[in-house]
Amino acid sequence: MYLADYHNHTCCSPDSEAKLEDMVRCAVEAGLSELCTTDHLDLLGWHGEVLGDWDWTPVLGQYERVRAECPEGFELRLGIELGAIQFFPERAQKILEGVPLDFVIGSVHNVDPKLGGEDFYFIPYKTEQDCYTALDDYFKSLCALAKHDSYDVIGHIIYPLRYMNKRDGHSVTLDRYTEHMATFMRSAIGNGRGIEVNTNRGAEVEAWRPVLELYRELGGEIITIGTDAHKPEDVGKGVAQTVQMLKDMGFSYYTVYRGRKPQFIKL
Ligand SMILES: [Zn+2]
Ligand SMILES: [Zn+2]
Repeated sequence: MYLADYHNHTCCSPDSEAKLEDMVRCAVEAGLSELCTTDHLDLLGWHGEVLGDWDWTPVLGQYERVRAECPEGFELRLGIELGAIQFFPERAQKILEGVPLDFVIGSVHNVDPKLGGEDFYFIPYKTEQDCYTALDDYFKSLCALAKHDSYDVIGHIIYPLRYMNKRDGHSVTLDRYTEHMATFMRSAIGNGRGIEVNTNRGAEVEAWRPVLELYRELGGEIITIGTDAHKPEDVGKGVAQTVQMLKDMGFSYYTVYRGRKPQFIKL
């Protein structure tokens, strides 16, 4: 099976020290045929600060250098994880202009700047109500994001649950957000965009099933698979299981990208 990891970070992201050459080496060892590197390009910082101009030089330099040394037959592709498109749509569009990108993940990491703009990671979820207050804002943002076209897939839809449930011990579900999910999925589908399954370094595969069921019911077909690896050893974790799950669920394809155009890999 052709396996591709479409969400991972290197030292060009503020929260990773990994070198792209080590990510590629681990991808080959994990049996992947393709890696799309997707460093963070957040328009809002961790605590809601509006970030300044973006310099593509490190990302492009690293990519060109490592691509030239890639093992024969291995596909290395250039992506980016663009955060906060919905708050700065024109800036998002401008920042991507003229860059030879294959793929863009549109992610929501921060609450609305009007509510402080904090990354969901830094919020202390003391009560279940804290979780739902944050999630109300999160899903509002996803609905706003999906209407734009600076992204190819919507990133890690279940992201805040990592911190609410796993870290802070709640057992919050997304049941009350089905209508929101259907709304942003319809926008993405209508836009020729998709969603990703983000395995969170292999820890979350089954958790995606209800999201994917809804997506399939709505006619969604574009799905990328990414691990969110920030360390080389996490590259590829859960990708093969996700492929199997998609197949079991009745999907026919998953997706990779070439120059921002989806290409379908038969399951
Ligand atoms: Zn992210
Ligand atoms: Zn990420």
